[in-house]
Amino acid sequence: MAAGGTAQSRLDKIVMLIAAEMGADVCSCYVMRAGEVLELFATIGLNLDAVHKTRLRVGEGLVGDIAAHARPVALANAPSHPNFAYRPETGEDPFDSFMGVPILRGGRVRGVLAIQHIARRAYDEQDVETLETIAMVVAELVATGELVDNRELQVANDLVLLPSRLDGVSLNRGIAMAMAVLHRPQLTIRQMVADDPELELRRLREAVDSMHSAIDRLLILSGETGGEHHEIIETYRMFATDRGWLSRIREAIRTGLTAEAAVQQVQNDNRARMASVTDSYIRERQLDLDDITNRLLQHLAGRQDKADGGTLPDAFVLVARNLGPAELLDYDSTRLRGLVLEEGAAYSHVAIVARALDIPVVGQCTGVLNRIDPLDFVIVDGDHGQVFVRPAEDITEAFLKSIEVGEERKREFAAARELESVTRDGVAVRLMLNAGLLIDLPHLHATGADGIGLYRTEIPFMVRHTYPDTAVQKETYAKVLDEADGKPVTFRTLDVGGDKTLPYFPDLGEENPALGWRAIRIGLDRPAMLRKQLRALLWAASGRDLRVMFPMVAEVSEFLRARRILDLELRRLDQDGVARPRDLKVGVMMEVPALLFQLDALLPHIDFMSVGSNDLLQYLFASDRGNPMLNNRYDLLSPAMLSVLRMLVRRCDEAGVQLSLCGEMASRPLDAMALLGCGFRTLSMSPGAFGEIKTMIRSVNVDVLQRFLDSLLGRPDRSLRQHLLAFARDHGVRL
Ligand code: PEP
Ligand code: MG
Repeated sequence: MAAGGTAQSRLDKIVMLIAAEMGADVCSCYVMRAGEVLELFATIGLNLDAVHKTRLRVGEGLVGDIAAHARPVALANAPSHPNFAYRPETGEDPFDSFMGVPILRGGRVRGVLAIQHIARRAYDEQDVETLETIAMVVAELVATGELVDNRELQVANDLVLLPSRLDGVSLNRGIAMAMAVLHRPQLTIRQMVADDPELELRRLREAVDSMHSAIDRLLILSGETGGEHHEIIETYRMFATDRGWLSRIREAIRTGLTAEAAVQQVQNDNRARMASVTDSYIRERQLDLDDITNRLLQHLAGRQDKADGGTLPDAFVLVARNLGPAELLDYDSTRLRGLVLEEGAAYSHVAIVARALDIPVVGQCTGVLNRIDPLDFVIVDGDHGQVFVRPAEDITEAFLKSIEVGEERKREFAAARELESVTRDGVAVRLMLNAGLLIDLPHLHATGADGIGLYRTEIPFMVRHTYPDTAVQKETYAKVLDEADGKPVTFRTLDVGGDKTLPYFPDLGEENPALGWRAIRIGLDRPAMLRKQLRALLWAASGRDLRVMFPMVAEVSEFLRARRILDLELRRLDQDGVARPRDLKVGVMMEVPALLFQLDALLPHIDFMSVGSNDLLQYLFASDRGNPMLNNRYDLLSPAMLSVLRMLVRRCDEAGVQLSLCGEMASRPLDAMALLGCGFRTLSMSPGAFGEIKTMIRSVNVDVLQRFLDSLLGRPDRSLRQHLLAFARDHGVRL
């Protein structure tokens, strides 16, 4: 195949032959360069100007995904895939279907070979095998070293000094580039036994006092921004004053140990007892105790407060096995750019604090401490859950470009904040924010949102150690209303159960948790819990406007029972002499299809309805929303889903019930465009989506769109995505 000529010209011929052989509109070959960057080396069908210019990091986009996992990918509908990374310079927008295979040699990925088709096409196993066979030929060509000098990719014996890429899990998005600082190792204890227990007890007392003052200072600092991390440090204070813990340390000192050795011994005992525990919540508490222990040891050694303040670089990425949230706050947050953890989970407290600090975090990065030396240059890619250590110039450049593009888009979208959310034909669309943490609230003003369309009350419950009492809940809700400053806030009552577990709630081991005891079902079976939450909401909103929404309602009678509990609490408010909310609106989430068939009975009782499209899709198609095997199998833009949504718009309009949609669908421009076509005029979304969605809204003529969508709904297609994309292209809608 394609013998003779330079390696580059042979590669050019190969891609041409593959495209002809497989009837593809595009065939492209990406070759691996140093620093794990895939460079477009040859193409037929994409823009030739992009050759040797387009570069993708391993893990980035579909091509990067193939290289990262050394496995083929075949997609009939590539643009809707979450890993799809659009590169405008390649001109690849019209291509729907994508199939790519790794170019493997000697067990290593040397590149990626991909084909694309304009028309939707399902590739079969034979197609994949054919491309894999051709990739073997290309692998030989790459191995000659004529395309990329083999020395560029040579792995030296001293692997540690080479650039490397480590896989982890994204715990917070964003990109950071800076020098690495390794979290200080635990102090070593030099002297184990002491002659004078009284002296040791006094040292312990002083160290505990000084630790308390330091924690109090942290509390004051964290209080300036408020939020959940403040609560977390509060629980630290609780640990630090735990009498059982301190008295066990004192006992150990009385047996003749130094204060340090006693602290360590108690910690070792705790660890031994916890060793067999697999419960993630308890393990997380163990981490808090480790943090407190280290902290106390620091104070005993006379070291306190900010970690190595004087010697830290001006900008740094912190690398640690794991970290307590208060430990993270010990570092100067103005210089801290990112965080990499060997362990760490999405709902760990340190991740929550890192989110509050708005720094990218990659967790579960196995072996990271062995691969990074202090002051190594690292890139934390929180968007893709990967870390680059001592990256090559190419990759640094590629990231700088990503950062630049991201900044540019941010500027563009920030500018859109001041613009009205109105379609080209003058239809106003209300844009609301989805929130769940106090730290989300500044987005309300930054985005210019009209209000909070969904406040997920369960999130503050999930980060706490114990069930928050009514007073604590009231305080949180009041803060939300204060921050909203008169803009409407829709509070959804506790939506736990299923995948959202509370640390202090029994694990029921349900076989089908998504279909199990969750949300309003728990609220109605444990009415005291629901009552307390409603009471807290009513107190918080005394004299102000309040919107309450019940999740996962499957029967009108469930809504009516919940409503009765709310009415009881309203009467109790009168008895307590507390003013009622100025205006109270009550609504439901539309998530369970059974409710679609009870609209006649339901609509007269509700003030508003919000469609939870994440759950509605999973129940409508009986397709688990968290199962990667079913990813993209059923489409939100299917005739079934869109017909349901359009029907809801009509019915709610007729009944005078406000309707909105608060699932992820509202955050994606094409899906949101379809919602406008269905008649939705209120969308609630994550803060990052505002710019794009508003840009889309301002470029669409909704009247034309609505008529177009009407004509499509009767089609037998599994999805109308391509038709809607074509509409957007033909009508200049900016997606
Ligand atoms: C939904 O189901 O679409 C929704 C907004 O609720 P959650 O994602 O919290 O289940
Ligand atoms: Mg839901």
